[in-house]
Amino acid sequence: MNSDEDRKKYGLPPKPEDLPEHRDPYGERTLLFADDADFIQFETVVSTIPSQIAVAPGYLEREWEDNGRRYFHYIQDTPIQAFFTFVSAEFDVLRDEAVMPDGSKVNLEIFHDPKHKYNLDRFLSAYQDGITYFSKTYGDFQFRQMRLMEFPRYSTFAQSFPNTVPFAESFGWVADFKDPDDFDYVYYVTAHELAHQWWGHQITPNYTRGSNLISESLAEYSALILTKRRYGKDNMKRFLKEELDNYLSGRSNEGKKENTFINTNRAYQWYYKGSLILYGLQDLIGQDAMDSALYAFNQEFGLKETPPFPGSYDLYRHLDAVTPDSLKYYLDDTWNKITLYDNKAEEVQAKRITEGEYEITLKVKSQKLYSDETGREENAQYESDYIDIGVFAAEDKDENGRTRVNPLYIQKHKIRPGESTITFKVKGEPVKAGIDPYNKLIDRLPDDNSIAVEIN
Ligand SMILES: [Zn+2]
Repeated sequence: MNSDEDRKKYGLPPKPEDLPEHRDPYGERTLLFADDADFIQFETVVSTIPSQIAVAPGYLEREWEDNGRRYFHYIQDTPIQAFFTFVSAEFDVLRDEAVMPDGSKVNLEIFHDPKHKYNLDRFLSAYQDGITYFSKTYGDFQFRQMRLMEFPRYSTFAQSFPNTVPFAESFGWVADFKDPDDFDYVYYVTAHELAHQWWGHQITPNYTRGSNLISESLAEYSALILTKRRYGKDNMKRFLKEELDNYLSGRSNEGKKENTFINTNRAYQWYYKGSLILYGLQDLIGQDAMDSALYAFNQEFGLKETPPFPGSYDLYRHLDAVTPDSLKYYLDDTWNKITLYDNKAEEVQAKRITEGEYEITLKVKSQKLYSDETGREENAQYESDYIDIGVFAAEDKDENGRTRVNPLYIQKHKIRPGESTITFKVKGEPVKAGIDPYNKLIDRLPDDNSIAVEIN
């Protein structure tokens, strides 16, 4: 099934080389789209040499040896996408469990090189945290097991098949995380791949332009949210900034034209812009509203084997339903337009009022811009937008030795275009202040958002 005609007939995704500028951080080279021909009852018998374990999706029914070969019989007792993988190697297996919201257990198996035990706890805790949290938030995990299989560094990617995720050796199995400030990409990428069990497998997008954001943006967003739960919302800047930088560099290398997000056909949009604007939306409307929209979206389309399958407009409809009128501008800006900000902290002074209390005067500049598909920008005409204003004490270290951000003040203000001066009081000695200090908005120059506080 590899000719273009076959791909069309079976509703298969385009070949990776046919995808325009498909630069994919996880190297997920096959994208998943559904039509009504794609769901199968999966059962397989696979054999390997006796020293190895062969893994495929489905539950292990039986294992035996015959004639110098080791056999494994797997049955998936619920329909899955015709999307599966076989991995065989000399594995050690770490076995543990994740707990579902109703208390039932999901078997976890981490198949790894016997010498690569360094970061097993990171893979494991992403699975344990994610299965509990995603089930509670988006609807129950659909399988009784979840596996991860290391494979050699001939290639660097991780990819989510039904209850089965091959994960390259070079992608964290031997990584050194001694510095507590190192970005725990093992946890993050494992969370992303796990989230595909919901976004991609429970909900499979239809074959229309923009629909892949359902898989990738929601998986990346879910990984951000799990990370927020682990690191704390005030320590998210490094993650958000990473997504922002990747999006900005993606669009600056755009060779043809940048579509609006709802019609996205580029990896730099569906990963980085997608995660950022969904994170920004939950920050504006609140985690509960966001969760209820995604839960309802999964209720409408999850585990469906017959059309209609959702496209980007279906997800938009659910998000729109939970967004109050006063914040609809944000949805419209991020999905239907290409929107950028120029936010900048110009000057900040602190006057000590009493012992430990300061009056802050912060001068900021802000401008929203709309870009057309060729990158031509013009200032937006608008009254004001909600933007974070923040003041920070000195950073310190948390109990894990990790750098901790210490906000004295973080509030959304309605900021008009042009210059604004904002005055308020904080308790504690201010060191840094700024506008959108965590980089939640798509800012062309994110580095000038925060500056040092002058105390006088
Ligand atoms: Zn993905």
